Amino acid sequence: AKRSSKGGYEIFNDQFGTSIERRFQMLSELKFSIYNDELTCYYQPQYDYDKKAIVGFESLARWNSAKFGMVPPIQFIELAEETGFIKQLGRSVINQTFAFAKRIKNPGIRVSFNTSPVELMQADFTDYVIERFRYYELEPQSVAIEITESCLIESFDEVVKKLRILTDCGICVYLDDFGTGFSSLAYLKELPIHSVKIDKSFIDEIVSDKVGRDIVDMIIRLAHRLNLKVIAEGVETQEQAQCISDCGCSLIQGYYISKPVSGENAITLLDTLKTC
Ligand code: C2E
Ligand code: CA
Ligand code: CA
Ligand code: CA
Repeated sequence: AKRSSKGGYEIFNDQFGTSIERRFQMLSELKFSIYNDELTCYYQPQYDYDKKAIVGFESLARWNSAKFGMVPPIQFIELAEETGFIKQLGRSVINQTFAFAKRIKNPGIRVSFNTSPVELMQADFTDYVIERFRYYELEPQSVAIEITESCLIESFDEVVKKLRILTDCGICVYLDDFGTGFSSLAYLKELPIHSVKIDKSFIDEIVSDKVGRDIVDMIIRLAHRLNLKVIAEGVETQEQAQCISDCGCSLIQGYYISKPVSGENAITLLDTLKTC
């Protein structure tokens, strides 16, 4: 506990050094953010480096709070998860993402959105996603759900069931942050996934570190062997992009191509960077 300016005591949450009081204020602001358009999605291109074309976008939540300024996603997502508000937040993200996907007229572009384990475990999650998918009249394979390995730890069979329901309706599944979680490779073949996303922490080292590069090379071979696509995340330089391409993976996402941008600017990017 630390003495606050008001003379009382604030209890600090270790992870972000955020006081309980501040968290409480933040949560009430966050609840309003959905109704006053403070909570929006930005979109980061996923790019085929060999074909030099955008193949998709990842939707990333942004909260520009009138009271707190730009709050980093890790911070408000965790707050939302811990307080149960993630359900409404996730629904807002799904609606914005699907509306954006609907706006894209270029064929073959896929927009992915993130899902936390808490959302996925909601009993009505798949019903909601499918209802919205139909409401927006989206083409099969035009959207993808990104899940992390942490979704799989507790109830693997149930998660697989849910993912199958989604894939049966034409929604793709990406395994996010691949390699950072509980890395039993055996479960990969049981999952109805379309792509794995190699975490930025691996990409950071590929140019400088021979062993790091061998690991990425092995992950890519394994994934391709299992008929999965691979997207390398957090690619910041041309050297990294080339290195990944040399390992046989052409799909990249990162600041080297573009930072996440507003829906409007993402549509403009589609016209400037050519698509397939
Ligand atoms: P993530 O799903 O792994 O998303 C990738 C993160 O890396 C994003 O951070 C993105 O802006 C950042 N990034 C992309 N390329 C680069 C690069 O070249 N260099 C660097 N340094 N960073 C790059 P962001 O937007 O801050 O999101 C952080 C995390 O918050 C996400 O990690 C995801 O776990 C979570 N998140 C974001 N939006 C949502 C959402 O709508 N729902 C849920 N459940 N989680 C979300
Ligand atoms: Ca992601
Ligand atoms: Ca990721
Ligand atoms: Ca991550």
